[in-house]
Amino acid sequence: MCEHIDIPVNVKYIIDKLSRAGYSAYAVGGCVRDSIMGKVPSDWDICTSSLPQQTLEALQMENIIENGMKHGTVTVRYNNENYEITTFRSDGVYDDNRHPRSVSFVGSVREDLARRDLTINALAYNDTEGIVDYFGGAEDIRNGIIRCVGDPDERYNEDGLRIMRTLRFASVLGFTIDSGTAEAVHRNAHLLKNISAERIASEFNKLLMGKNAEYVLSEYSDVIAVFIPELLPMVGFEQRNPHHIYDVWMHTVKVISFSPESRLLRLAAFFHDIGKPQTFTVSDDGTGHFHGHPELGARIAFDVLKRLKYDNHTINTVSLLVRLHDKRPPAEPKCIRRFLGELGEELFPCLLDLKRADILAQSGFFRKEKLEYVERMRELYKQELNSGSAYNLKMLKINGRDIIAMGAKDGKRIGEILNRLLELVVDGKLENDREALLQAAVSELNA
Ligand code: ATP
Ligand code: MG
Repeated sequence: MCEHIDIPVNVKYIIDKLSRAGYSAYAVGGCVRDSIMGKVPSDWDICTSSLPQQTLEALQMENIIENGMKHGTVTVRYNNENYEITTFRSDGVYDDNRHPRSVSFVGSVREDLARRDLTINALAYNDTEGIVDYFGGAEDIRNGIIRCVGDPDERYNEDGLRIMRTLRFASVLGFTIDSGTAEAVHRNAHLLKNISAERIASEFNKLLMGKNAEYVLSEYSDVIAVFIPELLPMVGFEQRNPHHIYDVWMHTVKVISFSPESRLLRLAAFFHDIGKPQTFTVSDDGTGHFHGHPELGARIAFDVLKRLKYDNHTINTVSLLVRLHDKRPPAEPKCIRRFLGELGEELFPCLLDLKRADILAQSGFFRKEKLEYVERMRELYKQELNSGSAYNLKMLKINGRDIIAMGAKDGKRIGEILNRLLELVVDGKLENDREALLQAAVSELNA
């Protein structure tokens, strides 16, 4: 096989230098996969027959990071980019479904490719030999197939994270998982219990953002449930409500795929109805209801994200979006200002995007009206931004010093007055105008 791919001059320079010193070297892994697919790779990894010390000697470069050398990796900084150059290696016995007890350096690129997770990632390239492909990776790329290199059960037992990588690549690349690999994913899903929360979360984020998230989540809920068991009650939970045609899980999956590709939004979509099964009631006419599900869902989202070690900003934002996702106040400026007070300017459009995705994943019942409502809210939001009104204390054209100047001393009282004025402005009963506010403050002070 001798297909040509374009490699950056820096990568070519490194590979050529190693070749001239008598070693074989290749671009390897994700960068070859992406190039074949016509995508721009995010980074270029290099593998080589030279041992780390030999790599250093052959390259004679100044900026070298040596701390991966034990595992065979030399990182060089060249023309403002980092390149990882790793000696051909095969991994020894795996101790904990994640870490090889030892790595051994091997002589051939074939053995190095054999330790990699998926055929589409087990590809190497240099200009002399073209694409090196021992496991049918190029054909799998052509056919859109995700398949393990070698025996899937063994590969997942060596490293459980590969299960998440399999799902992530299927979602992001829009590929189908080969049936043997798919069965092994289900069979070995429990191995994810041995994998750190951070690594799982990082793959889960990418999976949610993928174009094929719908397929992956609907087929592999059992795998996701290994680290988020809270989702299980959603699966198959019929809603018995004219607004819905899907069970709670399939509805959720569709909301995710209708949401824009934003991590916070897709996480919010994932959790938005997770409180439904526990809040389910049926009215006399047989209709299902879920009173309080956003509040419960927000608490579940908070706990799950905390357990998966997400950062506080993500935890708080996602829970807030979940808590507010079902609020439908009248489309009026004052309601927009209340939302803005809770969410801020940047997050409010996200809430509207979530609402839109939610509607698109429901039945056609009143769909047109529901979508019109969301778009009306969006219009009002845009108008609100230029209105000069206020939805938080900072925006108010009066502050604590003004109230002190009127003779107020007690800090608590000052706070109360400012909040009262803000409430009046938000409700549209008072203009955010300095004179008007000063006057209103005087009456409040004397009240
Ligand atoms: P991307 O960088 O786009 O997320 P990638 O395939 O480059 O995708 P990396 O995590 O950068 O992923 O890994 C580089 C290469 O190392 C992979 O292409 C694969 O060949 C190999 N690899 C990474 N993680 C594993 C793993 N857990 N098990 C086996 N091989 C792996
Ligand atoms: Mg990579």
